[in-house]
Amino acid sequence: MIHKTFPRGGGEIPHRKEGSERKAIQAVPAPSIVVIPLHQHIGAPCVPVVQAGDKVKIGQRIGEAKQFVCAPVHASVSGEVIAVEERPLLTGKKVLSVVIRNDGQDELVKMEAGDPAKMSPQAIRQVVKDAGIVGMGGAGFPTHIKVTPPKPVEVIIINGAECEPYLTCDHRLLLEQAEEMVGGLLAIMKATGATQGVIGIEVNKPDAIERVEEVIKEHKELSVAALKVKYPQGAEKQLIKAILGTEVPSGGLPCDACCCVFNVHTAIAVYDALTSGKPSYERVVTVSGGSVVDPRNLLVRIGTPIQTLLDFCGGLLGQPAALVGGGPMTGPPVVDLLGPVVKNLSGVLALSHEEAAFDENRPCIRCARCVDACPMGLTPNLLGEYSDKGLYDKADKLNVNDCIECALCSYVCPSKRALVTWIIKGKAGLAAQRAKEKVS
Ligand code: SF4
Ligand code: SF4
Repeated sequence: MIHKTFPRGGGEIPHRKEGSERKAIQAVPAPSIVVIPLHQHIGAPCVPVVQAGDKVKIGQRIGEAKQFVCAPVHASVSGEVIAVEERPLLTGKKVLSVVIRNDGQDELVKMEAGDPAKMSPQAIRQVVKDAGIVGMGGAGFPTHIKVTPPKPVEVIIINGAECEPYLTCDHRLLLEQAEEMVGGLLAIMKATGATQGVIGIEVNKPDAIERVEEVIKEHKELSVAALKVKYPQGAEKQLIKAILGTEVPSGGLPCDACCCVFNVHTAIAVYDALTSGKPSYERVVTVSGGSVVDPRNLLVRIGTPIQTLLDFCGGLLGQPAALVGGGPMTGPPVVDLLGPVVKNLSGVLALSHEEAAFDENRPCIRCARCVDACPMGLTPNLLGEYSDKGLYDKADKLNVNDCIECALCSYVCPSKRALVTWIIKGKAGLAAQRAKEKVS
């Protein structure tokens, strides 16, 4: 059987999912203190609507979205607000956050719940907005904007590829909450006017494919796309190309290819918000890596410190070589273990020295492996060099902004050149240069 994939570049990388893929999702008890950042999404930060001394309940809005590209933030425990102040994220970056002391009462406020089949598209979009749902696969883009596409869309794709090594939270959700995922997909189709839904799953998750096929068998408008295991199969443009055969133009959006892509967990959050009135205040996180005693998939309240997750998994086997927030290819290093779980955090990895093979940058040997691997058809060797040297116009001419930051170029480079790090720096440098040019 031929499995769908994108044609250009990409590569095989180790899955390393065996540590947690067969472990059912377990709920972590809420911690005594949660630190909830008011900026957990792409766009503008929220404005706090509580202050120290206020009593809050689970699901209560604590951060208001005052701008369009923004998503409200809700309390994940009941208790007392003890501070509204800057606190570090797991990356060390400080963000205005609401700190709540948990009173252990688990008092809850819910939004109004309903039957999505009886709701108007506008009503669905409003609930998604009020619930503060953002892309939970890692992107963190506010979902209410995605369910309001600027152009008509025909197909909604659910991204169940989970192509990063170690991560298994979407796999477990597909097995354990397939009905909810399908309910969310149908609601998103209604909100966007799409007539077809496709769930893309890599074939290294045969049990998830079987489970979802069983759940959708009465739905003629839904199908499963079995995808070849190839990195970065879960990247939006590569997923669209694999499933629909269409290309999102450079600088374009998925709606330019008549579709929209949503992560598995996001679809479930949409369903929960609509049918249970539940805002986005918890999520499933994979904790894995060779330095974790007992890797697991954990249901965690937003605002829980990373350290609590590691402790729940039995702690660490010595000093890890690397701690990563998300997948090992695209996730940032964890520099603060008190940094909190946020809405778009899919994993926490503690990698052993064997797993995190660090090596020094060596000179380019012009082997072109990075060029062959790049799924966007770019020249990472040159982009890296120009970006590192601050030659942003040259990088721009080679379409540096088309880079999806998948890191495959760095991974395949025999000289271990930090290509993606330089390219990310180059994109930021180019944006700053363009902004400066606009002003002058
Ligand atoms: S990080 Fe960018 S340049 Fe490197 S392979 Fe991925 S898309 Fe290509
Ligand atoms: S893979 Fe590394 S060594 Fe080979 S061309 Fe690219 S940057 Fe140079």
